[in-house]
Amino acid sequence: SGGDDRYLADEEATLALGQQFAAALDGGLVMHLHGDLGAGKTTFARAFLRALGVGERVKSPTYSLIEGYDIGGRRAFHLDLYRIADPGELEWLGLDSLAEPGAIVLVEWPERGAGALPPVDLALHFRHEGTARAVRVEPVSEAGQRFSERLQG
Ligand code: ADP
Ligand code: MG
Repeated sequence: SGGDDRYLADEEATLALGQQFAAALDGGLVMHLHGDLGAGKTTFARAFLRALGVGERVKSPTYSLIEGYDIGGRRAFHLDLYRIADPGELEWLGLDSLAEPGAIVLVEWPERGAGALPPVDLALHFRHEGTARAVRVEPVSEAGQRFSERLQG
């Protein structure tokens, strides 16, 4: 197939996608969330984390760069690297825990953390589509490929 491209008609559709991704998860996964400001990355991430069981505890990593959650023994991390100018600025954050087996990782602006992040499984490319949004889901690793097959199935 030529990839998985989805039209997101309104915010509800972006929220529903996050819930669908949470339901298809069956282990650790590293997701890169690409797209311009306002393209829907945080909306998706919050819906995903809420559906995983973080509930209303979901915070915004806009200033903290990283938020971590313990979801019934599973570790989840949400990063927003918009403010990072150089990946070297990430050293003090101790990103080693992101690479732990089973960790669920979502990274906004991942290109700004190049070299400091664990290998990506799935890349999501969000974009504006008029006043709506769209997203292309790109599997990168074998785990990402299996995940996207579960999504479709
Ligand atoms: P990003 O994290 O990519 O900068 P946000 O998730 O913060 O973007 O979204 C910015 C705005 O876009 C929010 O006000 C949100 O409600 C809106 N939004 C999200 N998904 C859609 C959609 N499918 N259609 C229209 N607006 C959307
Ligand atoms: Mg954001």
